[in-house]
Amino acid sequence: MPRQISQGICTFCHREFSKSAMTRHLETCEQRAVTEAKAGGRRKAQPIRTFHLVVEGRDLPMYWMHLDVTASTTLATLDRFLRDTWLECCGHLSAFEIGGIRYAVDAGMDGGWGMEEKSMQVRLDKVFSPGQSGSYEYDYGTTTELKLKVIAEREVDAKGKAIQVLARNTPPVILCEECGKPATNVCSQCIFDGKGWLCDDCVERHECGEEMLLPVVNSPRVGMCAYTG
Ligand SMILES: [Zn+2]
Ligand SMILES: [Zn+2]
Ligand SMILES: [Zn+2]
Ligand SMILES: [Zn+2]
Repeated sequence: MPRQISQGICTFCHREFSKSAMTRHLETCEQRAVTEAKAGGRRKAQPIRTFHLVVEGRDLPMYWMHLDVTASTTLATLDRFLRDTWLECCGHLSAFEIGGIRYAVDAGMDGGWGMEEKSMQVRLDKVFSPGQSGSYEYDYGTTTELKLKVIAEREVDAKGKAIQVLARNTPPVILCEECGKPATNVCSQCIFDGKGWLCDDCVERHECGEEMLLPVVNSPRVGMCAYTG
């Protein structure tokens, strides 16, 4: 895969920025300020604490999201969100690792990981603080690993969803290895050798067979297990 500068779209103003410029943009995005001021004006409530979180594929950092998450929500809710948005194929197990502690979806069962394992039913403000980083894995077999980093903590007047996407990467362009057109399929076998990216025309000639093919989707789980987006 040739190196590309990873770009993403701001949810509020829909402008495109490079991955490295997005954190700064979100701090100064005028449209975001307008949107949040409107939400705050409608009801006067207790200020709500939120964390600005960045998640990205550990081995595929071109897949990334900036999230605004309510501090009182739980790791279990974040797990559910990551599955729904990016990862879920067939109900595999998952776990966070933050500050040397593992928070597993199946905590309590014998994991045998040799480290303390807790439930995901823990509030984010118990585990996150600005600067804190951590990791997440989905599926202990064909694992997709994510990196997490807490960029900042804020207080807002009002908030809709517990987890809001602030920005997300634009789909990287991956080319068909046979003809050079944009790939729309990936072979779930050949991907482990860094190959198997194919356009619709070239899939017919692929030796592994059609049942091995998965659609190219904008997710760090692209081409893994049975993930179709
Ligand atoms: Zn913006
Ligand atoms: Zn699966
Ligand atoms: Zn092709
Ligand atoms: Zn193949």
